[in-house]
Formats: sequence, structure tokens, C-alpha cells
Amino acid sequence: MSKKKHTDTTIVTTGRDPHNNHGVINPPVYHASTILYPTVEALYARDADVTYGRRGTPTTFAFQDAVAELEGGYRSLVTPSGLSACSIALLAHLKAGDHVLVTDSVYGPTRAFCDIVLKRYAIHVEYYDPTIGAGIAGLLRPETTVVFAEAPGSQTFEMQDIPALAKAAHDAGALLIVDNTWASPLFCQPFELGADISIQAATKYIVGHSDVMMGTITTNEKAWRATIKNHGAIGITAGPDDIYLALRGLRTLSVRLNKHMETGLLLAKWLQDRPEVSRVLHPALSTDPGHEIWKRDFSGASGLFSIVLNPASDAAVAAMLDDMELFGMGYSWGGYESLIIPAAPAENRTATTWAPEGPLLRLHAGLEDPNDLIADLDAGLNRLRASA
Ligand SMILES: *Cc1c(COP(=O)(O)O)cnc(C)c1O
Repeated sequence: MSKKKHTDTTIVTTGRDPHNNHGVINPPVYHASTILYPTVEALYARDADVTYGRRGTPTTFAFQDAVAELEGGYRSLVTPSGLSACSIALLAHLKAGDHVLVTDSVYGPTRAFCDIVLKRYAIHVEYYDPTIGAGIAGLLRPETTVVFAEAPGSQTFEMQDIPALAKAAHDAGALLIVDNTWASPLFCQPFELGADISIQAATKYIVGHSDVMMGTITTNEKAWRATIKNHGAIGITAGPDDIYLALRGLRTLSVRLNKHMETGLLLAKWLQDRPEVSRVLHPALSTDPGHEIWKRDFSGASGLFSIVLNPASDAAVAAMLDDMELFGMGYSWGGYESLIIPAAPAENRTATTWAPEGPLLRLHAGLEDPNDLIADLDAGLNRLRASA
């Protein structure tokens, strides 16, 4: 087939080579540190695909190739967590004296990396309003080398105008990095929108089973050399068993994510009508302020969204959450199970204020029967009201 295949087909076929592997469908797990070279000439040339375990084995390359194809980028690198994908991508394109613009809605630990590490190396970190769009041109300086976006932010769900950010960044000679974890490559193609680098916390939807930490950095051709050079220099590597599990998770990304989307929207709409709920933050709802951008740039939504409750005491929130039956309380998301946590995004803001009218709860819609999830939420909201 010469024509570009549909994504669901690519998810099944990418990163596989059964005919060079005894017909076995899945790529084998290669455990390796030392790689043997047959001759002195080969040892010095080091031009084989596999040169040393830290730089990856065929298991690594199979997963990287699959992610690169799905993201629509030039090539991909694997890292042992989503956070290390963010930190390596930033380090690869920043040096002392540079200025980096980071969305104020960024994932908290990415922000901590910027504040704790980047600032110590004389890199000027500035946070911007996630809804700034083309207005970011006013913040770009001659020494700005990177704009870091995350669309939508994983607590407050503001959409970002990626094409506008890309244009302004490129006009100023800067790169645009997008953390694309929420939508996954299934529902957002950042390179088509102008991004230079796309990051996945593969821990979430690609792995999909809450049992592996993993990250990926995919770049366009322009950003590739500096990225792989720094990734190698820093010495980051992921183990082959974990990579195998990530590649296995990837095969069912489409069926899982479509179900997460369907259940997430069902819950979001049900929650919109509850008297305890002030607002639902979910860009696929037509009432959401980011809905037009979502409709223009994304082809679907994941199962992660937030609600803002009407004013309620901490005790009432605890009464609701402590006794949830199906919704577990825990960080991370993207696994098959439903989750709910209270979040305090205001603590992580400096460029914008976040002062919602009541407590914020973040929900992850899992793969359980949505009727059971609604019953769990119904009982929880009744407990909240009863103890208000
Ligand atoms: C979870 C997450 C990360 C970090 O991934 P880890 O694998 O937990 O390190 C980065 N970005 C976003 C948007 C996330 O949700």
C-alpha cells in the first residue's frame, strides 16, 4: 500500500517485523548492555543500529518507530517517564542566557523542573497565559529559543491555539514543544499544527494499564539532531520489558481511547446538570470556552476532565471522595480504571489567576460501565450535599 493508512490500521501494523522474527507477531524483548562487534573495523565504525544497550535495542527502536509514525513526526526517542521526556526536550534546546516561555497551565512537575533546574542554569523561565494565542508574539524576545505548550492543561483544560503559537515562535526563531499527552497522537497531530516537538507521557494512554512509567519525544527533522545528541549525552534509557508493555498497550489505543471519550462525555454532560456542580471543564462540550479550538484542531477527546463544584467545605468534599466505590483516588491517569482527585491549580500559577468559585475535582473516566460510574458519582454528590 502506498497511500497513507488510516490511523487504526497504523496502530496495529506499525513497529512490527514478523518475517524477520520467525513469524512472531510482536517484536521480541532484547535485554542488553554489551553489544559484540565482529571486527576491529566494525568496533571503530559503530555504524550498526545497535551499538550499546543504553542507546536502545531493537525493542526500543520498534516502539520509537511506532510512536514516530503515529505522531506524524520525523523520529522518536523513548525516556523512562513522561517527565523526563519534558525535561530532556527542554534541556536539548536551551542554554544559559536563553529565555523559555512555558504555559501557566503546565503539568506541575514540568513546572517544578523549570523552576528548580532550568533557573539554576541561568535560563530565563517565563510563564504565559494558556489562552494568549497569537498574543505570545509580544512576549517573544531575541533570546527566546523555546515555547512550551500543553493542550489542554491537565487540571484546568484551557485549550491552546497551537497554530498561532507555532507561527509566532517560528517568526521569532524559536521552537514549539507541545505536551500532547491528553489527546495522544490519536486525537491530535501536533506536527500538522506546526509543532517542532511532541511529547507523550506514554505512562498514560499509550501504556494504558497503570503499570509502566514511560515517555516519548518525537521531533521534526529540524529539531532531531540536537534532541538525540542531548538524550544520548544525558544517559537516559528505558528498560526493554517496560518498552514491550508500552508497545503492547499501544495496539489497543484506539478502542480504549474512543471508549474513554464516550464515557467521559457522558459523565461530563450528566455532571453539568447536577446542582452541586458549578462548571464542567471539558473542551469537547459546546459550552466550553476552548471548544472552537478543540473542534478545529482535535479529532477526539480523552477521558480526563475537571469539574468546579459550588462552594463546599473540605469536610464535604472528603465525605464525597472517601467513600467512592469505583472512582479511585490517585495521581496519574490514562489507565483502564476511573479516578477522581481534588486539585488546587491556583498554587501552580504565576502569570494568570485561577480563583474558581468552589473546589475543583479532576476525573478520569475509565472503562467501567458508565451507568455504574454515574451511580457512584450520584451517591458521592449526595454525600457532599448532605454534609454541606
Ligand atoms: C503525567 C504527565 C506527565 C509526566 O508523566 P510521568 O510518566 O508521570 O512522568 C507529563 N505531562 C502530562 C500532561 C502528564 O499528565
